[in-house]
Amino acid sequence: MNHIDVLGAYGGKGCGKNTTCFRIAKNITIDAGNILAPLKKESTDIEHIFLTHSHLDHIIDIPFLIDAFYSEKKTPLRVYGLKETLDDLKTHILNWRIWPDFSELDLIDKSGKSILLCEIKIGDRFEISGLLIEPITTCHTVASCGYRVTKGDTATIITADTGVCDELLVEIEKTKNLKNLVIECSFPSRFKKLAEDSKHFTPEILVGELSKLPSLNFNIFLNHIKPSYENEIRQEVHSTEMLKNSIVLEDGWKIGY
Ligand SMILES: [Zn+2]
Ligand SMILES: [Zn+2]
Repeated sequence: MNHIDVLGAYGGKGCGKNTTCFRIAKNITIDAGNILAPLKKESTDIEHIFLTHSHLDHIIDIPFLIDAFYSEKKTPLRVYGLKETLDDLKTHILNWRIWPDFSELDLIDKSGKSILLCEIKIGDRFEISGLLIEPITTCHTVASCGYRVTKGDTATIITADTGVCDELLVEIEKTKNLKNLVIECSFPSRFKKLAEDSKHFTPEILVGELSKLPSLNFNIFLNHIKPSYENEIRQEVHSTEMLKNSIVLEDGWKIGY
């Protein structure tokens, strides 16, 4: 694939909007907010899911994905995340109460477990399907990370949920071949306090952070908008000088590598 499929662009469900999920190669997604509905049978191609954090809008399709294709799977579904993220998934979702723990269930042909939980750390490097995938620091209310995805000689950073985060700015600045920055903008600026408390961005907070960078010579894509504020945020973005050329993502769009 020479592009990223935006399977879910939003920070909430509602009125046909879907939650965070980026298909970065035929068999890899970042987050699992919306896999089954857009990919249908092709969902069986997904072998690797890199999680940014444990909030429901980022993990919700994992239980349904493994359940839907359990009998057909010949290889485990590898789910990558920080230790806290995987602990949350196992403790609160795959716990035999909310859903079966597929990380303890063998594949039908007994060749291995049906889900492998793979712990990652900031600074790790994964080379899969012609991509280099590196977890980078983000700052959210729970342990979280974003990912730098490098294909050929260009890089894309996908941050998922974050508020003000100096480490993230350092990563953006040091990625000299950065072509695309996907960064969240959950709330309109009038919800400054809510955004700060829940560690998300508004257009105003985002501008404050981006203005600390020496240059913005890359494409800026905004995602994780809360659907109920979509129109308001779009209007704000278009009337904000620094953001007016940025692209507000929608479900089903593509981002070229
Ligand atoms: Zn979220
Ligand atoms: Zn979150």
